[in-house]
Amino acid sequence: MLQNRRSFLRTATAGVGATLLGRRPASAAARSLGKTVGFAIAGLGSLSMNQLLPALRRTGIARLAGVVTGTPGKGRRVVDEYGIPPDAVYSYDTMHRMADNADIDAVYVVTPNVLHLEHAVAAARAGKHVLCEKPMAGSSDDCETMIRECGDAGVKLAIGYRCQFEPHHRECIRIVRDGDFGPLKLVEAGLGFTIGDPAQWRLRRDLAGGGALMDVGVYAVQTCRYLTGEEPVRITATEAKTDPVKFAEVDETVAWHMEFPSGAVGSCTCSYNAQGLNRLAGHCAGGGFTLDPAYSYGGLQGGSSHGRFDFDQPDQFAVQMDDFARCILEDRESIVPGDEGLRDLRVLEAIYESIRAGRPVDLK
Ligand code: NDP
Repeated sequence: MLQNRRSFLRTATAGVGATLLGRRPASAAARSLGKTVGFAIAGLGSLSMNQLLPALRRTGIARLAGVVTGTPGKGRRVVDEYGIPPDAVYSYDTMHRMADNADIDAVYVVTPNVLHLEHAVAAARAGKHVLCEKPMAGSSDDCETMIRECGDAGVKLAIGYRCQFEPHHRECIRIVRDGDFGPLKLVEAGLGFTIGDPAQWRLRRDLAGGGALMDVGVYAVQTCRYLTGEEPVRITATEAKTDPVKFAEVDETVAWHMEFPSGAVGSCTCSYNAQGLNRLAGHCAGGGFTLDPAYSYGGLQGGSSHGRFDFDQPDQFAVQMDDFARCILEDRESIVPGDEGLRDLRVLEAIYESIRAGRPVDLK
């Protein structure tokens, strides 16, 4: 099947009422207390319009309370379709006014990567908790600033790593943690698609911070880190560029190895010019597991040496937003806090450094 960026991630529409780690998520408990958490979605692009806003109709305790947009017509559309008050539509310049809107508890930042910092800081300074899309920011310095600003404002910060809430990925993590097949030796992870419109921000360094690596390679880095439970100590990377005009500012296809202290190795690929790459495999001493597709919004398939997986296909975004809502209500840290985004950015920067230097790069 020919897939574009949207369809390759969507693969299948997700079911509702999902479970996370076998528990009922949306908090029957919190709901019975009558508590909900209001989210403002900042940036009404493809992800927000096609996934997040619909997901907020399926959540248990997270609910839509506002939007931030630079395009007034989109704001009016959300008012009409989702019934939010017209005065809950903000522009990027008026985000500080959210401080006066007690109905908004959290802002979900869904703008181009390099703008995440500015919008997350504006939300934090307005006293709102921040859920920030991946990659967390355009650089690890920006991640550190975001973490500091959220800390100073006393608000929570989490990153939109939806896979960590997805049952197939949770099972892969469990298999490794419980040692079902012995120690994890090798992770293969790859995500790629053929990018369209040459004028889009994803191909601009000033807005994207990088190319395929920043956008989809970050999933592979995350996967290797959450499967091993370790931080990489050495990276070896190369880039292939077959279209130097389209990819003048950003990377096209990147392949890299990550070496972990235990001896486990991550072998990863990502591309803006290779259709249908969407796979994860973990090889342990005595068996392993595979997901293919691995990173879609739904329709994941796979299994382990013990047999095929048969899990619910939750709306990953609904589960993720409900979890962040619970973190706010219960005053606890997300399993994907800002520090996770920062650690991934440090790895991405080491990958770029290895490409530039043409040699392995050691991480402290
Ligand atoms: P889009 O290009 O579809 O939307 C981005 C939106 O950001 C725009 O529609 C616009 O909304 C707003 N925006 C503000 N400033 C600018 C600017 N200077 N240039 C362009 N847009 C601007 O991107 P996506 O929705 O696909 O991606 C947004 C973020 O979400 C990215 O960080 C991406 O990595 C992440 N993402 C995460 C996914 C996941 O599975 N977790 C999947 C897809 C994306 P408005 O008109 O309302 O201002």
